[in-house]
Amino acid sequence: MPRIGRVVVQNLWEAFVTNEADQSLRIKRFLMAFASYCMWCAIVWYFYTQGLSRLSFEGSMIMTAAALLTNAAFYAVLRSGLNKRLKDPSMTLAQMMFATLWIMVVAYIVKDARGIMLLLYLVVFIFGAFRLTLGEFLRLSVFASAGYALVVFSLHRYHPDEVNLKVELINLLVLSSVLFWFSFVGSYINKLRRRLNTANRELKDAMEIIRFRSAHDDLTGVYNRGHLFRILKREKGLADREGTTFCLCIFDIDDFKAVNDTFGHRAGDTVLETLACMLMDNIRLQDYLARYGGEEFVIVLAYPTIQGAAACAERLRRLVSNLSFEGLPEDFRVTVSMGLTRYISPESVDDLLKRADRALYEAKRSGKNALVTDPALRKTSAA
Ligand code: GH3
Ligand code: MG
Ligand code: MG
Repeated sequence: MPRIGRVVVQNLWEAFVTNEADQSLRIKRFLMAFASYCMWCAIVWYFYTQGLSRLSFEGSMIMTAAALLTNAAFYAVLRSGLNKRLKDPSMTLAQMMFATLWIMVVAYIVKDARGIMLLLYLVVFIFGAFRLTLGEFLRLSVFASAGYALVVFSLHRYHPDEVNLKVELINLLVLSSVLFWFSFVGSYINKLRRRLNTANRELKDAMEIIRFRSAHDDLTGVYNRGHLFRILKREKGLADREGTTFCLCIFDIDDFKAVNDTFGHRAGDTVLETLACMLMDNIRLQDYLARYGGEEFVIVLAYPTIQGAAACAERLRRLVSNLSFEGLPEDFRVTVSMGLTRYISPESVDDLLKRADRALYEAKRSGKNALVTDPALRKTSAA
């Protein structure tokens, strides 16, 4: 199909359905049912042209219009969203009952070949497999069978010469049996479909958890070491290509072993969690915080200059030193030592981390609770 044709079809389709996934699915099913109505209309008019219908031209017109109006009403309810207030928002049972009624009408007006019209019931029942439970299927079967019995009774009463009661009773018996049998199979298909839906949803949720866990640290919820390397590789690639740069700060909690030894391992975990949470609240969206290992963290700072990054790191160091922790003494505080550097294209990620690590080592040696900038940068004016 040429591009313009495809665009027109797409726009028409979008005008008929909605962007809402559930509603769009319901409208698609409605349109499928509407296609069956078109078939039903074609049959009505074929019977009329062949002289097999008891209806006049006007009668056939009125009936076609009434059937189309029923559909228009269902479409209006679906498109307006009123259906969402109903217990069954897809209105499957209601749509199927109306369709069954229209088949009864055709069965009544045809003078001949009534038996073959019973196939239309199956077309309607197929739609039930999308939604109906066994109970609803059985109720609809009773409704359809009783409806057909009423048609046969009315014909016998008002047009006795047009009905062979013996044949119609066999028709009725076979119709009821087939519909009851279809109720079991249809509801079983629906049950399988629901089970598949649930399994799909659970699988999707599990995938989401796996995806999250593969990139995040279990204890603190910040990025894990594996994901940090993916981030650094991406940032390096971007910086090499665009001629930009970024900064990296590695920091380690001072005397953390003493925290565990004094207050217990669980208290140590609380310190890690609280600290990570506070840092996440205090870095920008474009910066990344990752747990590098144990009580060591890395922040990738999207600053082009070491001065900007140093101001940010210093602010974070101060915030850490003022942080208090739930369940620990009110005056208990921790401090961190920080090593800061800037990416120098096209060095490797390992070299970048080594330079930051050296700065951190110097911060520890200088007495801890300090920020040290990579000495290699201090020498260059580019820093
Ligand atoms: P320094 O100032 O030189 O960094 O001393 P430090 O005591 O912080 O360093 P050290 O490497 O001696 O001890 C780190 C401690 O961190 C030891 C380890 O048990 C503890 N640790 C590592 N991961 C966790 C964790 O997930 N939870 C807890 N509670 N402790 C952890
Ligand atoms: Mg430490
Ligand atoms: Mg350490």
